[in-house]
Amino acid sequence: MSNNKDWLASAGSNTQLCHTGYDPTAYHGFVNPPVVHASTVLFPNARAMETRSQPYTYGTRGTPTTDALCRAIDALEGSAGTILVPSGLAAISVPFLAFLSAGDHALIVDSVYSPCRHFCDTMLTRLGVEVEYYDPDLGEGIERLIRPNTRLVHTEAPGSNTMEMQDIGAISAIAHRHGCVVTMDNTWATPLYFKPLQHGVDISIHAATKYPSGHSDILMGTVSANAEHWGRLHEANITLGICGAPDDSYQILRGLRTMGLRLDHHNRSALAVARWLEARSDVAGVLHPALESFPGHALWKRDFKGASGVFSFLLPAADGPGARSKAHAFLDALQLFGLGWSWGGYESLAVHVNLSDRTIRKGPTNAAVIRLQIGLEDVEDILADLERGFEASAKV
Ligand SMILES: *Cc1c(COP(=O)(O)O)cnc(C)c1O
Repeated sequence: MSNNKDWLASAGSNTQLCHTGYDPTAYHGFVNPPVVHASTVLFPNARAMETRSQPYTYGTRGTPTTDALCRAIDALEGSAGTILVPSGLAAISVPFLAFLSAGDHALIVDSVYSPCRHFCDTMLTRLGVEVEYYDPDLGEGIERLIRPNTRLVHTEAPGSNTMEMQDIGAISAIAHRHGCVVTMDNTWATPLYFKPLQHGVDISIHAATKYPSGHSDILMGTVSANAEHWGRLHEANITLGICGAPDDSYQILRGLRTMGLRLDHHNRSALAVARWLEARSDVAGVLHPALESFPGHALWKRDFKGASGVFSFLLPAADGPGARSKAHAFLDALQLFGLGWSWGGYESLAVHVNLSDRTIRKGPTNAAVIRLQIGLEDVEDILADLERGFEASAKV
């Protein structure tokens, strides 16, 4: 067996998932990296300590375990460097703190992951950053919102819960013309279905909590930067002391090995469920980018290699209170689906989506938005469970 890994750069995504991030010859041939629990790292002498002239210097600055995960993410993202943080939310707040200063203006997509909006409206605003939300459909039209002090444009596609697509390439090109850094929350697609840095994004953000973990038992975020922005992102990571834990890093690397297989299954099952829902007369719409009927479908088809397992549908109702009762009846009748936050694990989940914080892309007044995460169960069982929900909500 040769140690040559030159072939890996041009290999397929499942091959990369199996072979990136760690070299077994570096640790006695064991296939997986050791889990290094560490704060202190010892130096051989005072001079080495003073000059920090060894690969590892302190636990917060990386270990062989966290490095293995970071190198795997870099290979998938095509990034110059990746930092690990303790949650997907921290994977948003840390780069915002890295690149924004008092007096700056930030443009945030209105269909953003809701806790990101909370961070922007509270802490970021308190620190003197002016936050403005924009319509995900803007594309090149984002130019008219850019001001002399606009420093950051945050994108997320598809949008959380309502799945709006964005023209990431067009937005990045305009933002760069005005000297802005472009960040993208790519949690839904993972780097297997969309590679943000190839479309002009500077900073790619992931809740590794979702598909990389895959088992609803780990919280972690990854932030990957292109060469131009890596230095500043890495510096912020060190300055804030926000780092990834060893056992969690190990589990995320482990999850990556099977992520391609799992995503493929989520992809197919979710699309089958979405088409089943679309054909029903008691559904007012299905928000899934891979459906031809979805407004953002053309963008999705142009830019994405696949769709993951999360989408929403509209349960028709007379008004807001009616929508709430119908949604609750639907959710309470489910037996296979769990009612819980987050997604990306093996089990199906359902949520009645709350869109009350939206300022531009507001939720419907005559329907409830139900978000589904389609897990790895058999599709027939998933459909049978949804049928229970429809039966119950019809009675309300
Ligand atoms: C879940 C999620 C996050 C946050 O991840 P946590 O690890 O739960 O903090 C960020 N962005 C998106 C799009 C998410 O769905």
